[in-house]
Amino acid sequence: MTDAPLPPDALIVSVATTGSWPTKAQNPALPTTPEEIAADAVACRAEGAAVAHVHVRDDAGLVTCDPSRYARVGELVRAAGCDVVLNLSTGGGAGITTDEERMAPVALSPELASFDCGSLNFGDRVFVNSPGFLRELAARMAAHGVRPEIECFEPGHVWNALRLIDEGLLGPPFWFQFVLGVRGGSPPTVKQLQHLVEMLPAGARWSVCGIGRAQLPLALAAIAMGGHVRTGLEDNLWYRKGELATNPQLVARLARIAAEAGRPLATPAQVRAALDLRAAPAAASMAAG
Ligand code: ZN
Repeated sequence: MTDAPLPPDALIVSVATTGSWPTKAQNPALPTTPEEIAADAVACRAEGAAVAHVHVRDDAGLVTCDPSRYARVGELVRAAGCDVVLNLSTGGGAGITTDEERMAPVALSPELASFDCGSLNFGDRVFVNSPGFLRELAARMAAHGVRPEIECFEPGHVWNALRLIDEGLLGPPFWFQFVLGVRGGSPPTVKQLQHLVEMLPAGARWSVCGIGRAQLPLALAAIAMGGHVRTGLEDNLWYRKGELATNPQLVARLARIAAEAGRPLATPAQVRAALDLRAAPAAASMAAG
């Protein structure tokens, strides 16, 4: 891999194509099969996304943690010649997947995987990420060479991360994703985002995704603040009021805004260098190849 330092003003755009809960009934453009998810990841890379955050579904379209489905997405993306960084979800489905099932994709040694850094009410569900689960997940990610994307839904989750850092279970370079606007987490305001950023350890990089109609305003704030952004149908099904979105359309809008704002889009190679992503050789199909 060529050396590709991340320019200080570069913007890392992540796309969360699918998530655990949205349905095709809500938005027919939601990708749910491995083929559809891979195709959207490739299309979003073409529009400027450097990272694709992947959830997978079963044949009925319901959330699953099946590693073979994750592996299939990775194979299809690489077969298409696409270099996007793959970030596999370990979120599962609150209340319907076990901790062990959620950790299974880590054994594929993806370059990046989500690390939901605390528990919270999640709409009408409870999303449990116990201290014991977080320690085990951190240890497995380290063993498999997986960089955690530390997802924080509220300030207590950043504090949890600081504790795990103190315990030596999370190490630099740190990559945080703030998810704002889940009912039970932080409200999706610029003031909350600023507070979360102020809590971060030195040198940490961060990105934000706002839920629903908060997605675009928080992306604008992050672009102005020097942070990074996540978009996609996992978090928001709409392009604007009354008009459903597609994943590539959401990425393309951010790419246009970033260009106007003087934030060149980060490439996957630059993200790999900045976050020191090192997939294990055994999982080369999930890596850049
Ligand atoms: Zn997710």
